[in-house]
Amino acid sequence: MAIFDQGAEQMDRGELAQLQLERLQATLTRVYKNVKFYKKKFDEIGFLPEDCQSLEDLARMPFTTRHDLARAYPYEMFAVPLREVVRIHSSTGSPGNPIVMGYTARDLRHWARLAARVLTAAGVDRDDVVQVTLSYGLLTSAFGLHYGVELLGASVIPTGPGGTARQVQVMRDYRSTVLISTPSYALVLADQMAAQGLDPKDLHLKLALLAGEPWTEAERAEIESRLYLTALENYALSEAMGPGVAGECAARQSPGMHLNEDHFLPEVIDPKSGAVLPAGELGELVITTITREATPLVRFRTGDLVRLDYAPCPCGRTFARMSRIAGRCDEVVIVKGINIFPTRVGQILRGLHGEEEPSYQLVVGREGHLDYLEVKIEVHEGLFFDKMTVQREFLQELTHKLAQGIGVQPRVKLVEVGSLAREQETSNLVIDLRK
Ligand SMILES: [Zn+2]
Repeated sequence: MAIFDQGAEQMDRGELAQLQLERLQATLTRVYKNVKFYKKKFDEIGFLPEDCQSLEDLARMPFTTRHDLARAYPYEMFAVPLREVVRIHSSTGSPGNPIVMGYTARDLRHWARLAARVLTAAGVDRDDVVQVTLSYGLLTSAFGLHYGVELLGASVIPTGPGGTARQVQVMRDYRSTVLISTPSYALVLADQMAAQGLDPKDLHLKLALLAGEPWTEAERAEIESRLYLTALENYALSEAMGPGVAGECAARQSPGMHLNEDHFLPEVIDPKSGAVLPAGELGELVITTITREATPLVRFRTGDLVRLDYAPCPCGRTFARMSRIAGRCDEVVIVKGINIFPTRVGQILRGLHGEEEPSYQLVVGREGHLDYLEVKIEVHEGLFFDKMTVQREFLQELTHKLAQGIGVQPRVKLVEVGSLAREQETSNLVIDLRK
């Protein structure tokens, strides 16, 4: 099995710890000097960057949340002047401001390398033809992997999302061997092939690299049997970089995604107390970036529930292996006994304004003994139809779509763009009035 960065990916763990400490110290010095948010946070607890003498000292430092990042809109978290930034991405999906990420030229070089590691670990090589069906836009999703494919010397087909019939045609005619998509879109493609009477065995697909939404082993089995390929998972964290943070190797261990620990320092914490948990326990993943120049993060709370395994892997890589995301710890809300992941609502709403998720918010309350769920969605003026009948039909269709996707029939309320952020200070996706 090929390894892209042998020197790094098979590094002795003692050497790795030393490298991580040096990079962590450099990062802390840089953010203390250049990012007001961190200077203030460190000053509040009387911490100086030189106080960090071991990796364990990280646990004394304050967390960074998505709320902090949204409040820093647009450039308050940048640790370099804008003239050194060569790329800007941003993410949406929560009420309030988008989160803005910058990349220096060096950040972009790292990004391509890390994506190339993930691709190589999955089994992609220079003979492959890689079809990227993720979104090319403000979101980070497609870009990191795109440049990773090119760095590897494989061919990339940047189809972007949508146009499923055309995707299948490209896949067949251009002889794509690797599919990069979300798990659900892989199944949409399988449906399309079935509808066209096309047998996936007649295609050249051998591998799918999937990310972007929670999925199960059962779904993996379905994707593999229906598309006649091997489906591997990777972890993209847009705030930290994008795709390339972690990826499953072909040895397919459980847990299986090698985390690029020479660039990202992982911790797993108890989401309630914030205490660091022992290796192997399920908790919230916290990431500190230790090479990012433009927008470094110290102890960023991802909200993703995972476990880490440090046992050696048959593939020879020494980096910790991360489990599939078991759920979101900060925002799961239970309505009528059903677990609802607010981010799932965002996925369903995608497409309302083209590519991007609109801002939305879930309000949960109780009338008598019955829970109700209201979904408020920010929509552009054009969607406030003049004709009430048209608006009613639109709402009915949307309600039906949401009910199918999350298992609970919501009340849908359309609001003006910007009103969710104005109504309250917090950027919570969920307001629970039952508490
Ligand atoms: Zn491995």
